[in-house]
Amino acid sequence: MTSTSSYSYLHKSPQDVLNDIDFQLTLEPALLTKLTEAFLEEINVGLGRYGEDMAMVPSFVTGVPDGSEIGTFLALDLGGTNLRVCEVVLNGDKTFRLRQQKYKVSDQLKTGEASVLFDYLADSVDAFLTTHPPESPTSPISDVPDVLPLGLTFSFPVEQTALGSGTILTWTKGFSAKNAIGNDVVKLLQDAFDRKHMHVKCVALVNDTVGALLSRAYTSGGCMLGAIFGTGTNGAYLEEVAKIPKLANNPAATKGGYMVVNTEWGAFNNTRTHLPSTPFDSALDRTSINPRFQAFEKFISGMYLGEITRHILLSLIDAAPRPMLFGGKVTKVVNDQWGLDTSVMSEVEEAWEMSVTVDTTVAKDVNGVGNIIEIGAEPRSFPGEIGENLLWDGDDHDILPRWDILSTPEGLASLNPKFKGKLERVRKVLVDRLEYADGDVDLRDAAIVRWTCHLVARRAALLSGVAVAAILLQTGRATFIQDGQNGQTVPSTTEEPTSKKVNGANGTHVINVLNKVTGTIKDGLEEKIGVGVDGSLVQFYPHFERTMRESLRSIVGSDAESRVEIGLAKDGSGVGAALCALQALKQGF
Ligand code: ADP
Ligand code: MG
Repeated sequence: MTSTSSYSYLHKSPQDVLNDIDFQLTLEPALLTKLTEAFLEEINVGLGRYGEDMAMVPSFVTGVPDGSEIGTFLALDLGGTNLRVCEVVLNGDKTFRLRQQKYKVSDQLKTGEASVLFDYLADSVDAFLTTHPPESPTSPISDVPDVLPLGLTFSFPVEQTALGSGTILTWTKGFSAKNAIGNDVVKLLQDAFDRKHMHVKCVALVNDTVGALLSRAYTSGGCMLGAIFGTGTNGAYLEEVAKIPKLANNPAATKGGYMVVNTEWGAFNNTRTHLPSTPFDSALDRTSINPRFQAFEKFISGMYLGEITRHILLSLIDAAPRPMLFGGKVTKVVNDQWGLDTSVMSEVEEAWEMSVTVDTTVAKDVNGVGNIIEIGAEPRSFPGEIGENLLWDGDDHDILPRWDILSTPEGLASLNPKFKGKLERVRKVLVDRLEYADGDVDLRDAAIVRWTCHLVARRAALLSGVAVAAILLQTGRATFIQDGQNGQTVPSTTEEPTSKKVNGANGTHVINVLNKVTGTIKDGLEEKIGVGVDGSLVQFYPHFERTMRESLRSIVGSDAESRVEIGLAKDGSGVGAALCALQALKQGF
C-alpha cells in the first residue's frame, strides 16, 4: 500500500515549516508530569476492573526468582517479529544455558486462521526437537514423566486466569489471526501439539514483560519492573495483591502478598486526550491495522517510529509550492506504508554520531548473567532551554536545521568540516537505505532527515520514561518532583508498608510506601531499583536509555532516577518462560 501526505505548508517559509514540526514533536517537562499523572490514574482503574484499556493483567506469578532456581524447560516465544523455540537450562547460580532456533512468521500466518498459526508453532517445536534433541533431562511433570514441559511466552493482551491459561483479548503489532480472540491461548497451542501427537505439555503462559522481569531477577538477584521496547512496548511490575481489587474473591487475593501484573501500557490513553498527537501520528493510526488502539505504543515502539518518520519526510517531499526534501522525489522505501524500518533511523543517528556501538548500558550487558551496568547519564537540558540561535558548529546534537545556511553554496562552505563530515556520512546512509540515487540526496536533506529521526526517537524515549516513572510512583519508590526541587526518594527502613500523601501538580495522590519489597536490591544503604529491559529499540537505538533517564529525572528527580538500575533482560522471554514453567510444576501442575 502506498500513501500520500496531505499537510499544507502553503504560506509558510521552509524554516517555519521545520520550526513547526520541531515544536509539535518537542515535549516539555510539564507535559511529562501530566502524562504520568494520567498514567497513574489508568493503572489504578485497570487494577480495579476487568475490561479496561490498560488491562493490568494479573499474571498469577506471586514472587520473583533470586537466581537459585534449577531445571530444564522448553520455551516458545511468539510476540512480534520472530518466533523462537528454546531449550533453557537454569543452573541455579544466576546463570543459564540456552539453545534456540528462530522461525519467521509470515504475514499470511499472522492474518490467516488461528489454527494454521498454532499448527505452525507446533511444527516449529517439532523441528527444534528433531534438530536439537534434549541434552539434559527436562524437569519431569509428576504424573507424565516422558512429556516435556513447555512455557509459552505470548506477548499479546491476554486475560490470564491462572499460571497456565488465559484468554486472548486482542491482537496487536500487525497480527489479526481469525478465531483466536476469546479463546484460551494455551488450549489453542496444546490442541496443536495433540493433533501432531507430540509429547509436549504447555504448563505456563507468560507475557514477555513478565518474562523480562523474572529473567532479570534471576540473573541479577532483584528486579521490580520488566519493560519491553521492541516491536511493541509494554511493562510488568510487582504489585501488592491488596492493591488489585479486581482479584476480588480469587484464591490469590486471599493469600495476599505480591503478584506480577502485566500492565499492557501500550494502550495507555487510547482516547489521546493527553498524548501529544500530531497529524503524522493521526495518519499512522488511521492507516494502521488497529486504529484508535495501542495509542501509547504507536508513539514509542519499533514497529511505528519508522512509519512516523516516513510520514514527516513525505510531507516535506510533497511540500508546496516547492519540495523541501529530496527534490520532491520518492523511492519505494519512502513511498510504501511501513517501508521505512526503525533500524534505518538508528543507522542515521549512528552515522551522525560516528560510533557504531552506542553508550546504552544494556547493549553492553550482553551475557545477561553479569552485573547491572549503569550508564553515566549526563544531565541534559530540554531543547527549548538551549536558546534559539544555535550555532552550527557541529557539536550540538539537537539543533534545528537552518534552511538558509544549508540552501546556499556560501552557507554550506561556512559549515565546519567536522559537521560537514557528519552530514556526508548521514547522506550516504540515506542513499543506501532509502535507495536514492547518489545525486538525489544533498547535505540539506541529510540534516533534515537526521533531525527528524532524532525528534521522533527522542519523543519516544521521553514517553518511555513516563511509563517507568509511573511504576516507581505506583510502588512508592519515588515521589513527583516538586516545583523544580529534586524529587524526594522514599527512605529505606524495614517497617511495614505505610501510606504516604504526595502532592502532584494535579492534586494529592495517596501512594503506598513500601519499605521492603521483594524486587528491591539492597546495596549498602542505598536501595537500588532493578529494571529489566528487552527489545531492539532500547538495545540498539543511540541514547534511548539516556533520554529515558532524562525524562525520569524531570518527573521524579535525580535521587530516584539514580537508584534505578537498568539492565538487559537477556533472553527474557525464554528464561522467563522457563522460570514460569518451574513455578507451575512446583504448584503441582
Ligand atoms: P520483538 O519485539 O518482536 O521481540 P525486537 O525486540 O527485535 O523484536 O524488536 C523488533 C523491532 O525493533 C522492529 O520494529 C524493528 O524495526 C526494530 N529494530 C530492529 N533493529 C533496530 C535498531 N538497530 N534500532 C532500532 N530499532 C530496531
Ligand atoms: Mg521480544
